[in-house]
Amino acid sequence: MAEEDLAAWSSALRAEFPIVTGHPGLAYLDSAATAQKPRAVLEAVQEYLTTSNANAGRGTYPWANRTTNLIEETRGRVKAFLGDPDPDASSVHFVSGTTEGLRLVALDWLTHELRDGDEIVVPFADHEANVSPWLEAVAALDRRGTRVTVREMPYQLSSGDYDADRLAGLVSARTRFVAVTHVHHVYGGDMNVHRIRRAVGPDAVICMDAAQSVGHLPVSLEALDVDFAVFSGHKALALPGSGAVWSRGVRGAPFAPRGWSGTPNTVGIASLGAALDWLDRAGPARIGRWTVELAARLTDGLRTLAPYEVVGCQLSLAEGSPVQQRHGIVTFRHRDIDAADLGFILFSHGFMVRADGLCQGRAGENRSSVRVSLHAYNSRHEVDRLLEVLAELS
Ligand code: PMP
Repeated sequence: MAEEDLAAWSSALRAEFPIVTGHPGLAYLDSAATAQKPRAVLEAVQEYLTTSNANAGRGTYPWANRTTNLIEETRGRVKAFLGDPDPDASSVHFVSGTTEGLRLVALDWLTHELRDGDEIVVPFADHEANVSPWLEAVAALDRRGTRVTVREMPYQLSSGDYDADRLAGLVSARTRFVAVTHVHHVYGGDMNVHRIRRAVGPDAVICMDAAQSVGHLPVSLEALDVDFAVFSGHKALALPGSGAVWSRGVRGAPFAPRGWSGTPNTVGIASLGAALDWLDRAGPARIGRWTVELAARLTDGLRTLAPYEVVGCQLSLAEGSPVQQRHGIVTFRHRDIDAADLGFILFSHGFMVRADGLCQGRAGENRSSVRVSLHAYNSRHEVDRLLEVLAELS
């Protein structure tokens, strides 16, 4: 699709987001935290609540049966959307978001899989939600006398992704589990997870945090060759407090969170199915191209403004960089203005951005910054207006 058509396409999609069109003076630039919802998702929620609202798996009457079916269908929907190579072997478990999902994998699954002397790899510069659960699991095992060694995932500063060669030299036959992230939540770079399987061998379990990729770009579990993929529905246009853990189910015991599970978030699940349908229609590849373009427009503009430093791999800032593209996420600082102050200033001009430490793990940035994160409904005009305001603060 030609460049101009992509802008027209985005502008048509934008009209489907009532909160966006209802606030013409505001620009929502925080979709990496929570994305806005298209009308189709709002209508699906309304439809479910006004025709079928009931508990799942517990009733014998039609509303309950419809709810049970909806949950099963949405499981299938998630598998299809993620390009699951073997949906008969895999499972989908609904959670409140990536944080809960990763913690379930850590505490309900990994603690039962690891043995004394095993090793795991943790990406310490990724989101804290993809760091602390693994350390908690190791600490819980340690209290039972099972010693597990934690290795730090190596990163390549030149390209901003994982260093697959150094990782290959770090792993051993005892490396049982490797945690990775698909797209980095601070730098916006694709972490090239498809290289990890070759580096760690056929037996290690790879768990992928897909919080910043599902709904933003095509995700193919077949190509990525991971064992777990965890994402948040609210970042993929569904309701807040929704999300899923997909488990391939071929390495280790099947993933089945332990204990009695109560009433699921049926409305969230209904919204997730509708969101994935909407995303399929819009086209994840097109969404990816658009948000990459907007992020490049913003980084190019920021590079001309002296007081701003764009955070992350500098090579990826070069126009047409061969190493990285920013998937709709650009994080920066002003030389003199504190990030939180900059956030308030930007809101006084109608821009909603994230401005703080961005929940990065312990090897991450130690200073606050401003993060702009974009989705299909954002426009070039919003990026240009933001750059104008940032230029005034130079
Ligand atoms: N991982 C990544 C990469 C994220 O960006 C986020 C949210 N910013 C999370 C995990 C946590 O997601 P949630 O708050 O939806 O559980």
